[in-house]
Amino acid sequence: MPLHGFIKSFMENYIPISYINDFIFCPRSIYNHQMYQNRDELVYQGEVQTKGKAAHINIDNKRYSDKKNVLQNFEVYSVKYQLFGKIDVFDIEKGLLTERKNNIKTIYDGFIFQLYAQYFGLAEMGYQVKEMALYDFSKNRMYPIQLPENNRIMKQKFENTLEEINEFSLLRKGFSANKFKCVKCIYNLLCDASLC
Ligand code: SF4
Repeated sequence: MPLHGFIKSFMENYIPISYINDFIFCPRSIYNHQMYQNRDELVYQGEVQTKGKAAHINIDNKRYSDKKNVLQNFEVYSVKYQLFGKIDVFDIEKGLLTERKNNIKTIYDGFIFQLYAQYFGLAEMGYQVKEMALYDFSKNRMYPIQLPENNRIMKQKFENTLEEINEFSLLRKGFSANKFKCVKCIYNLLCDASLC
């Protein structure tokens, strides 16, 4: 098999880090994400998502910091957890990993697991993460997050969530939509399970 074909099939078994939070919000959103990811984003992105994306523009363009010891928008992957994605900002000298968010009202497990996934990816690549934090740029506030090795319960929850993602099937019976989530969901106009 040519190398690019091997890499493609190798990566096909990997879960994008961004799926973890989406899956916790609603497993069905992963399916919708795959269905609509190539469509014009304005068709299905709400204001919240657009603002959230704006938080990452400087990082996507690598304009957040010019320091050489700061990794921005850097691709990571974990063989152990079969995850891949990008980190926002990692200060190599301080060992500080930061994920930027807009207007944090609740620290959801999905936000924490996103940092865990980035942490494990960086660790496998040889970087030493000493601290992690969510950074709310709208309030200029940092929310420190414990490292997974210091919180065994959350680490176990993280691993259980990955297992659930790997085992999830749309055909499985028993899924019921939550109307309070559907109201807030960016896919509610497109999703056939929406209760809106
Ligand atoms: S519209 Fe409702 S059921 Fe569909 S993905 Fe969103 S939250 Fe889930």
